[in-house]
Parts: sequence; structure tokens; C-alpha cells
Amino acid sequence: MKQQKAVVVFSGGQDSTTCLFWAKKQFGEVETLTFDYGQRHKLEIECAQSIARELGVKNTVLDMSLLNQLAPNALTRTDIEIEQKAGELPSTFVDGRNLLFLSFAGVYAKQAGARHLVTGVCETDFSGYPDCRDAFVKSMNVTLNLSMDYPFVIHTPLMWLSKAQTWKLADELGAFDYVRTKTLTCYNGVIGDGCGECPACRLRSHGLHTYLGEREGADAK
Ligand SMILES: [Zn+2]
Repeated sequence: MKQQKAVVVFSGGQDSTTCLFWAKKQFGEVETLTFDYGQRHKLEIECAQSIARELGVKNTVLDMSLLNQLAPNALTRTDIEIEQKAGELPSTFVDGRNLLFLSFAGVYAKQAGARHLVTGVCETDFSGYPDCRDAFVKSMNVTLNLSMDYPFVIHTPLMWLSKAQTWKLADELGAFDYVRTKTLTCYNGVIGDGCGECPACRLRSHGLHTYLGEREGADAK
């Protein structure tokens, strides 16, 4: 795949940055595509742009503000609390968000001469977003191919990884410190280890400490 080009769906967070490092290893040419849907923190867009710049890949920001028009949610509206009640999807959930992102990424990628799409969606992070599940992504892959008569391949390197395993992958790619200090996952807009309080920080930190514990255990042997 060294001769081929890939587009990474890129938010500047831990997962998509790990995917970017992964894609840079796999493909001869890599671009990143970032969706601006009126996130609480403009910083998320700036963070994605600066990571792309530092890693020497092209970044394009697509205006997806229509998403907020369709479905107001806690990621874009400060008057909606970020919360998750037991057995329900979190208030950050937006119906069809990944469906729309992958559709736009497909149209973009074909124009850019790329047939590979890389996305950091994951079925094991317990968030339960239906359009982040493996069955959906496979179905979307077929739909994209049929819709544009073009042989897309959607890659999901994190699909079956736990958060701890995603840290391990970053480490194997030589990107552990970079991902730890430069990416933005926190809902309160704090880069790196984050605010430590919001659900995204708690998930990230739990995975990080699980992985660091395993790594220390392995070093001690
Ligand atoms: Zn946080």
C-alpha cells in the first residue's frame, strides 16, 4: 500500500492521531480531513491543524455546521450538559454523525485520488454509537463503493482495541509521548492529560494507566 494514498478522518484527539501515525506507516501519501461542526472548543480544530502541520501532512477542514442544525447536542451546545445515564447513549451522541462524516470523507477522498479511508472508530469503547460499530462501517464501505463506483477501503485500526491497547499501538508506532502530550480529547479543551474530570478524560486516563501498569509489569519481568 506504499504506492497508495489515504485520507484520515482527523479530530486531533488520541484515537485519530494514533490512526494518523498508523496510516503514515502504511501508505505512501496521507492527508487528513477535519470536520468543523461548531465544537464547544475551536481549539479542537486548531489542535488538529497544528498536529497535521507538525507531522507534515495536508489538512482540510470541512464545514459541517449543518450537523448542529440537524441535531443539537452537548458537543456543540454549552447549554446541554455532558452526561451519560445508565443504559442510555451519552448526551454527546449525534444520530448519524459518523454516517455523514464517512460519506463526506468518501466524496473528498475520491476527488483527492485516494481510495483508502482511515477512521478511529471503535466498538470496544462502550460509548455504543451505532454508526461506529464494525457492521455499520462494513456496510458503509459497500455503500460508498456503490454510490461512486469506486473501490474504497475503509480502515479501522482501533475497532477492536481497548483504550489501553490504543495506547500500546501508539507506543509501538513510536508515538506514545506525542499522542500523550499533543492531542486533545478533553471536553473542557485541555490538551494532553486534560482536565481529568470529564467523561472523555476519565476514559482516556483509565486506558493510559492500565497500559502504563502493563508496561511496567512487562519491564519488571
Ligand atoms: Zn477533560
